[in-house]
Amino acid sequence: MIDLHTHSTKSDGKDTPTELVANAKANGISVLAITDHDTTAGWEEALMAARSHKIGLVPGIEVSTRQLISSDRRISVHMLAYLPDPNNQALFTELEKTRTSRISRAKKMVELLAEDYPITWELVQAELEPGATIGRPAIADAMVSAGIVPTRSDAFTSILHNRSKYYVSDHSLDTLEAISLIRKAGGVSVIAHPLIDFPAGASIQDLPTQYFEELISAGLDGIEVYHRSVPDPAKKWLEDLALKHNLIVTGSSDYHGLTGKDNRLGENQTSPEMLERIIDQASGFEAFL
Ligand code: AMP
Ligand code: FE
Ligand code: FE
Ligand code: ZN
Repeated sequence: MIDLHTHSTKSDGKDTPTELVANAKANGISVLAITDHDTTAGWEEALMAARSHKIGLVPGIEVSTRQLISSDRRISVHMLAYLPDPNNQALFTELEKTRTSRISRAKKMVELLAEDYPITWELVQAELEPGATIGRPAIADAMVSAGIVPTRSDAFTSILHNRSKYYVSDHSLDTLEAISLIRKAGGVSVIAHPLIDFPAGASIQDLPTQYFEELISAGLDGIEVYHRSVPDPAKKWLEDLALKHNLIVTGSSDYHGLTGKDNRLGENQTSPEMLERIIDQASGFEAFL
């Protein structure tokens, strides 16, 4: 089983990189990718664990980006970057900028929340490993610890969702720029969980072909078609699009630990042929196989 999208305590996952690798091995995964949000901080530990557990490891990053889709509308797009050079200066600088802006954005959200809930910045920080990429999950965890909500998911559905009055959006890299940066760093770009915000009742004809074609012209290498958040009617459409443009197609869990999210290791998988394409195409870092 090949699972190419997972998170550790270096961002918003609940397993340390070592635990993540051990759990992957125990769940029958043969090749795992660690893809923490906007950081490569978990790579080294995960590689050491992969060596001792004899499991394949593809280091990656889930890069936060924003794409302008009309003159006044930007949408959030997560871009998976497989095997980029972690020392590439341009990519490193952008990731650092994103992580820094995530801190001020989280502080702003905590300020707003503190008007109505017993929550402080210290409580949020206590949920996070030093240096880990901060996001709403850390705020959610602090709300669970403070007894405000029972689970991380409940915090999202009731309070932290992106239409909430406590929501603050963060700065992130332009999507097209991210695709090009990943390519220049020798990495392979795969758009994570596309169309998750697509309205349930909308028809296939409404799917934004032009939006994807823009990404493809910018150098997008692949699409994460098999992911629990991709709407079923969109999957076939995305497969056809990938076929038409000769793109890589992946399937992954987006595991965040047992209490981080419902997603379970190996629940979606990538074929060995597609993994081979990623490895052949990448030139920034070597996969451990
Ligand atoms: P942020 O990066 O701060 O915008 O927060 C988004 C992150 O929250 C995503 O990477 C997800 O892993 C996590 N997330 C979103 N919705 C939920 C949910 N319902 N339950 C648990 N985690 C979630
Ligand atoms: Fe996440
Ligand atoms: Fe994501
Ligand atoms: Zn993810």
